[in-house]
Amino acid sequence: MRNKQKTEKVLALVEKAYGRPAPLRKTPPIDEIIRTILSQNTNDRNSLAAFAILKRHFKSWESLLKADTSSIAGLIKHAGLANIKAARIKEVLSEIERREGRLSLSSLKKMDVEDALLYLRSLKGVGPKTAACVLLFSFGKPAMPVDTHIFRVAKRMGLLSGKVTVEQAHSVLTKLVPKHLIYAFHLGIIEHGRKICKAQNPLCGFCVLYNMCRYKDKAIYRARKTK
Ligand code: SF4
Repeated sequence: MRNKQKTEKVLALVEKAYGRPAPLRKTPPIDEIIRTILSQNTNDRNSLAAFAILKRHFKSWESLLKADTSSIAGLIKHAGLANIKAARIKEVLSEIERREGRLSLSSLKKMDVEDALLYLRSLKGVGPKTAACVLLFSFGKPAMPVDTHIFRVAKRMGLLSGKVTVEQAHSVLTKLVPKHLIYAFHLGIIEHGRKICKAQNPLCGFCVLYNMCRYKDKAIYRARKTK
């Protein structure tokens, strides 16, 4: 089965198992950039708690820019790496304000995906996942953010070859998944990775992708060995 067809089949099975994701509700791009920086190297619970604290504490993101890095770090300690993330958030927002003359990314709206990704990636501290999250969740543009779950499941399913790095996976999957399915694929595969195709001990016996998976024999062999 060709990879594009396989991707569509994977998504159909995942949607059947977990349901269709709720329609996209676009988030303000500056919120999205801050939220994604906070999510680096931590789970959603911790990063969303830190984001909620920032939202409550600052009346606007302009006022966050005027705050000391150390006081921002104190507010986001739930998210871990607080000093690094606080400095990164300030640096990224300052650069956006310098380029745009205000704290806004509305200029991305008219750009195509490639140009918008280049713009975002040129901001120090913005990696491929943050850039793709902003484009997908704030502008509804077809860019695929690849987190640890998507990377793992796509590799196990053979949608990404063994040599592809997580950095490269963003553009490989963006090209592979039909544009109109990127949002559903992103959410569906994360759900599958969290619930069934776990990093350690994937629950292959309960997996809707079992018949299509290249990794299952290895996973089952490992599970037997550890018993
Ligand atoms: S069969 Fe196992 S390894 Fe393959 S996708 Fe399903 S849970 Fe993951």
